[in-house]
Amino acid sequence: MLLDWIKYRKILKDIMKKTIATLTLFISLGFVEADDTSDTIKFYALDCGNIAVSDMAPFDKTGRFSGQSADLIVPCYLIRHPKGDMLWDTGLDQGILDKPVPAASGFHSTVSIKLTDQLAAIGLVPADIDYVAISHAHPDHAGNVNLFDKSTFIINSAEYAFMFSGAVLTDTDWSNYYDKVDALPKVQFDDHHDVFGDGKVIIHSTPGHTPGSSALELTLENSGTLLLSGDLYTHAGAREFKSIPTFTMDEAAALASMEKFENIARRKNARVIVEHDSAHFKNLPKFPAYLD
Ligand SMILES: [Zn+2]
Repeated sequence: MLLDWIKYRKILKDIMKKTIATLTLFISLGFVEADDTSDTIKFYALDCGNIAVSDMAPFDKTGRFSGQSADLIVPCYLIRHPKGDMLWDTGLDQGILDKPVPAASGFHSTVSIKLTDQLAAIGLVPADIDYVAISHAHPDHAGNVNLFDKSTFIINSAEYAFMFSGAVLTDTDWSNYYDKVDALPKVQFDDHHDVFGDGKVIIHSTPGHTPGSSALELTLENSGTLLLSGDLYTHAGAREFKSIPTFTMDEAAALASMEKFENIARRKNARVIVEHDSAHFKNLPKFPAYLD
């Protein structure tokens, strides 16, 4: 009887073990399947403001654009990858919509729709965004970073040092837009960072405009490779003439970054998106439509 009981217990144990193993297999297969059903990367272009420039003179130190006016779109980009959601650039402070700022020294920043309202339109709240990455620390790119206080912040290490450097902290109010990143989990990189480890979303260091400015390379299943300039080029004309604006922090670095960027563009046969170029923005699907 005792032997029977021991045997019975062993059989029971075996059954339990097999059941657990089978369940584990199902669960892991389930996860793989969930990934497989949403394995395309989606790329959304969001309207995160506009800067009306009355005279583009500072955008090329040779004066090439002197006397021209322009509307520079301020975009944010949402990348929905099967492994997580990433925001590339966060635009102008969305609070400007409630409290418009007066035009100052030829630049007028406006916001016509809030970033959070656009995210809500596709069922997202800031806490859903896994990664926030910015091309650089200027307030038309970092204006809403503090809204994302549950995200991991991805940043070039030289840019991160610049963001909290003495000159920026004492001479500008930019850090008001991003000072919460101090407490966030962070990924810092030097040359480049492969965000999801599959080569599909790669941030490349392209310094010059600021010490750690970056560009984004994105490989989509149907749309091919996109290359987002950050402010390496301020508008399409600037790319055409390899313009060095008067506000470039390091001219030699900017020229080297342009060469690096164009090499990637050629090698990957990429569609280049100059971020502030309104025509480039208009040629992208209108949110909530997307490229995949
Ligand atoms: Zn900018």
